[in-house]
Amino acid sequence: MILERGPRLPIEPQNADAEAVFVQRRYRARDEWQKETGKRFMPGQFYFVGGHTKFFGTAMFRFRERDFEATELADGVSPAWPFSYSELEPWYGLAERLFGVHGRAGDDPTEPWRSSDYPHPPIPHEPVIGKLADKLAGMGLHPFHMPSAVDLHPGGRCVRCGTCDAFACRYGAKGDSETRLLSPALAHPNVNLWTETRALRLITDDRGHQIVGVEVSRHGETFRIRAPQFVLSAGAIQSALLLQRSADGHHTEGLANTHRTGSPVWHRDTITPVWHGPHGTRSGACGAGPLVPLLRPPEPACSRCEFLPVICGVEPRTHRCCAGPASRRPARHRMDQRLTTWWRPFSY
Ligand SMILES: Cc1cc2nc3c(=O)[nH]c(=O)nc-3n(C[C@H](O)[C@H](O)[C@H](O)COP(=O)(O)OP(=O)(O)OC[C@H]3O[C@@H](n4cnc5c(N)ncnc54)[C@H](O)[C@@H]3O)c2cc1C
Ligand code: SF4
Repeated sequence: MILERGPRLPIEPQNADAEAVFVQRRYRARDEWQKETGKRFMPGQFYFVGGHTKFFGTAMFRFRERDFEATELADGVSPAWPFSYSELEPWYGLAERLFGVHGRAGDDPTEPWRSSDYPHPPIPHEPVIGKLADKLAGMGLHPFHMPSAVDLHPGGRCVRCGTCDAFACRYGAKGDSETRLLSPALAHPNVNLWTETRALRLITDDRGHQIVGVEVSRHGETFRIRAPQFVLSAGAIQSALLLQRSADGHHTEGLANTHRTGSPVWHRDTITPVWHGPHGTRSGACGAGPLVPLLRPPEPACSRCEFLPVICGVEPRTHRCCAGPASRRPARHRMDQRLTTWWRPFSY
């Protein structure tokens, strides 16, 4: 049985409407979180079947070997994972096949070793991105095709619409976890999905050794579900929160909290430059653009859109990403700010 706090995401015109998505925040959770400064904000969280992948940019990178090792951070040591990249490597390959990832082994000079190639070839660059890639390569850099989970090949469902990253796909072509994992799993008679069912806390046995139940809230009712085994996969933040909320006499600080689970949790905004292609296509993260290493700006960025002139090679005044219909500009400019990487600590 799979429990999901949100509903299925409706397929509707607003899926691809920047105003609805960024300005009205139509799909965002109605939660309010608090920054360390005390300032309250509406987090970029989405509660739907398929989770955040309904909106993700389809970039399917593998972690690097060192990501599994202990890491020294300002607040202490982030402990090593209990398994290494080598142990996980075959499963990355399986996941790439399940999600239908496009890419080319060896294209990315920083990628870890792999035992299998991507199931589909890389998505060709749009002409403007191709030019940029050539320019960067000419500068001695190594641009590469972003590994991308979109169904874009002969017979595929992707129509290369004008929206992708941060938008839901109306064509079932994005390799999100509802489309690629849950729906096929639900074809089996012994798999059930309960939507709009929120896990409130996990319940341990009398000795506090094993999870034996979960308390849930569904359609205004609160009750417990018992099972021999549980998998907690509510996302990095909500999983940590659920463990903390499951404190009991045996685990006064919450479950699995020997390393201060979830405190602090960091929300990382993207470091992938987002490119607005011709005709308003936001193609940088939907597979039509390369991942470009972040550059120190050799010259000032466009004052209106913050892209570097090196990206388009035209005068900032005529920069394409400023040329969209007026109603879409605020949203576009908000997205452009994502060119800057920043990490935000928060409490919830
Ligand atoms: C706009 C955007 C673009 C992104 N682009 C990329 C990208 O290009 N590449 C990439 O690798 N990553 C990207 N990400 C991040 C990626 O989507 C997430 O890292 C990934 O979805 C995390 O998967 P998860 O299963 O851990 O959690 P989630 O996707 O958050 O899934 C957790 C699920 O649990 C449900 N849930 C939470 N709490 C409870 C509860 N108490 N009870 C029941 N259900 C609960 C949630 O509703 C959700 O459906 C992007 C994210 C966003 C928002
Ligand atoms: S670009 Fe393709 S995968 Fe992305 S939203 Fe559009 S149709 Fe879906």
